[in-house]
Amino acid sequence: MKRKNFVIYIHCVTIFLTMSVSGQDNSYNRERYKMIKTQLQSRGITDNKVLNAFRIVPRHEFVLPEYLRYAYTDQPLPIDEGQTISQPFIVAYMTDALQLKKSDRVLEVGTGSGYQAAILAQLCDSVFTVEIFESLETKASKIFKELKYHNIVCKVGDGYLGWKEKAPFDAIIVTCAPSHIPKPLQDQLADGGRMIIPVGEGQVQHLILMQKQNGKKGQKSVLPVRFVPMLDDEGLKY
Ligand code: SAH
Repeated sequence: MKRKNFVIYIHCVTIFLTMSVSGQDNSYNRERYKMIKTQLQSRGITDNKVLNAFRIVPRHEFVLPEYLRYAYTDQPLPIDEGQTISQPFIVAYMTDALQLKKSDRVLEVGTGSGYQAAILAQLCDSVFTVEIFESLETKASKIFKELKYHNIVCKVGDGYLGWKEKAPFDAIIVTCAPSHIPKPLQDQLADGGRMIIPVGEGQVQHLILMQKQNGKKGQKSVLPVRFVPMLDDEGLKY
């Protein structure tokens, strides 16, 4: 091929590749905006800051390749280790319930795919997230690095115990279900803080919102939900 033809050829290939990649991005953007409208706003999520976090975070980066086309659908999806990435509405509902401020430090128990942590990271100062499976933690922290979410700190460990060295937390979110509210998490919640946690042993649990004010704790059940169980380091349910 002559040099000039070769340059034209390379130029065309570049244009084609750029078009197909940005075409894919556009279609994800469209799906994401539709998800926000039909799954979140229509069900009463109105806080613009929360909705904006969902506009920013690319959910498709957090799902397994075989589920890519379902990334923005109204359901939880399987991830590695038999765990799940929560349904978008549940992620939004729990985030909304925490009423986060930009200065808040947040503890998450159950990193999983990392999607919930990525949403929280848009709304607060820092997210400390604990995951019991090392493989999930490794994968999530790689995605955080790639997407430049520098205010998320991950560790492998048993989140039942919280993260004592980083406590107290202005907000705590638990994305796996124990049979009761772990005492270490109650102790690590700052005064004026909020915790959202699914509690129960059956298939369906209650989402509990706990608040601490002047040293006193109050709690209410806000929604029936279905989460994977909280496990100890031998794989037994709490
Ligand atoms: N927030 C996640 C949801 C993951 S499902 C997301 O956005 O994708 C719940 C997660 O809790 C699973 O990854 C599971 O491995 C983890 N988990 C279960 N028991 C745990 C424990 N004791 N400590 C920390 N993580 C736990």
